[in-house]
Amino acid sequence: NLQGTWELNNGYKMPYLGLGVWKAEDGEEVINAVKWAIDAGYRHIDTAKAYDNEEGVGKGIKASGVDRKELFITSKLWNTDQGYESTLNAFHKTLDRLDTDYLDLYLIHWPVEGKYKDTWRAMEKLYKEGKIKAIGVSNFLEHQLKDLMEDAEIHPMVDQLEFHPWLVQKDLQKFCAENNIQYEAWSPLMQGKAFKNETLKEIGEKYGKTPAQVVLRWDLQNGVITIPKSTSQDHIKSNADLFDFELSEDDMQTINALDRNERIGPDPDNFD
Ligand code: NAD
Repeated sequence: NLQGTWELNNGYKMPYLGLGVWKAEDGEEVINAVKWAIDAGYRHIDTAKAYDNEEGVGKGIKASGVDRKELFITSKLWNTDQGYESTLNAFHKTLDRLDTDYLDLYLIHWPVEGKYKDTWRAMEKLYKEGKIKAIGVSNFLEHQLKDLMEDAEIHPMVDQLEFHPWLVQKDLQKFCAENNIQYEAWSPLMQGKAFKNETLKEIGEKYGKTPAQVVLRWDLQNGVITIPKSTSQDHIKSNADLFDFELSEDDMQTINALDRNERIGPDPDNFD
């Protein structure tokens, strides 16, 4: 079921498969990708101020003809907008560009030191006003989560992190689970490297599935929300074809064992 959801710690439901749109160009490219995804049954789109395509995402949503209330839209606050007042301003600009009156999820994109606590107070205010249904963070490691939660009134509902077979971060997953913070995977396809991995290919052959479908299914069976990116209609469709098979426990363990604690993207302790 493509519209399957997990419940966040405030009871709000988040679809476990979404479309990522980083590097999808504003205009026709992102409009089509969003529309094709919604046509294919996706109900969750992941954008950010920094992707410079919120307007196109908004247009793709309108073009889909699906009611806004059936969709789950995430955006993220960019680093240079961190701080209390600047977060409030940035949030309203994001809403304007998306042409919507609320967000389902708003994330602090990166843990900018010395700023994220003020940012979080603004997120809490917007959440209490009902303008955001769930608030969370991205790229926060355990020490940053602990530090944030020390002063927070509301705990983050989601942490969106780099996650794929080479970067499992089991301890961070465990910490999030213990604190009711939903783990969400970015770059789940390892920005394309997953397609070349022999282990994923071999496992896929057993099930008649592609390496992309194997790795996305592994996310779901790990309880991790996943947001593969594509702007090709065929790939958008096939990346969602995950609900008619189940990886065996052995195959799950084989994929877990590929972990080598290796990042593709920036390190959250040193990102600028
Ligand atoms: P990804 O791992 O989703 O890989 C995307 C690449 O794989 C693209 O080049 C795409 O063309 C290709 N691809 C997708 N499906 C394919 C298929 N079936 N066959 C062949 N090729 C295919 O990479 P990503 O875009 O880095 O990550 C996904 C999303 O995560 C982003 O779009 C963004 O929304 C989010 N993200 C968030 C952060 C963050 O800091 N919070 C960082 C990176 C990405």
